[in-house]
Amino acid sequence: MTLLVNDEQFKIFPMIDSHAHLDFSEFDHDRGELFQQMRDLGVEQVVIPGVSEDKWANQVRIAKQFDCPFALGIHPWFCHSMTNQTLANLRELLLRSQQDEKLVAIGECGLDKLHKSNFATQLSVFKAQILLAEEFELPLIIHCVKSHEEMLNLLKVSKNVRKGVIHGFYGGPELASRYVHLGYKLGIGGLLLNDNAHKLQQTVAELPLSAFVLETDSPAMRPQNSDSDRNSPLILPLLLKKMASLQKKTNVLISEQLYLNVSQLFDL
Ligand SMILES: [Zn+2]
Repeated sequence: MTLLVNDEQFKIFPMIDSHAHLDFSEFDHDRGELFQQMRDLGVEQVVIPGVSEDKWANQVRIAKQFDCPFALGIHPWFCHSMTNQTLANLRELLLRSQQDEKLVAIGECGLDKLHKSNFATQLSVFKAQILLAEEFELPLIIHCVKSHEEMLNLLKVSKNVRKGVIHGFYGGPELASRYVHLGYKLGIGGLLLNDNAHKLQQTVAELPLSAFVLETDSPAMRPQNSDSDRNSPLILPLLLKKMASLQKKTNVLISEQLYLNVSQLFDL
């Protein structure tokens, strides 16, 4: 692994975005340019998660084109647009992709009480995807909003040995510790840069560095004070610096540990 030197003050290991929807149409007009800018900045890889059946084909095509690891799954926001065949089709696609070393996870999937999709349906679709993670021995990329007790109860009894990541984590240290205790990582994104994200900043300051992976959830989750109309993996160095200052460690040390965490999680 080579050490990057972006500028005089910022010597770091390469960065990996554990969660960015770079297949979305927001990137259609300048995707190639963005990948070039990411390379120049030291962003080595980006994991592209799946969200719904109608997007899988294009997502996998773009992942192939730019040599990105990807995940396949059904996001809780898209449970209402599923058909009876969707879960069977997901399993079929996973079977076909099983030998593909770029397939690294199931997801994103999970529970979201703030969304209109019926919660009972979300639960059954998420449970089915936990079983797929067990069957295919892949980690889970989990979206969880206002449903942490239900989520923790499901993960506690799951036999999924590869565990996974609670993406876009925004809770305090106590909740964070419960996930870490079960073997899950926490995906830390642009929210960390917001001045009023006190709980999340406390989590990052107090938990061991081994608990975290970096993510942007691009194009969503644009940080406050950003002058761009979309989020992108180009904010990763800012996240890394913020994490280093909260953990009171150097950028080099933080970047090395985060690189190891995400590489281990997804077997990159
Ligand atoms: Zn996402």
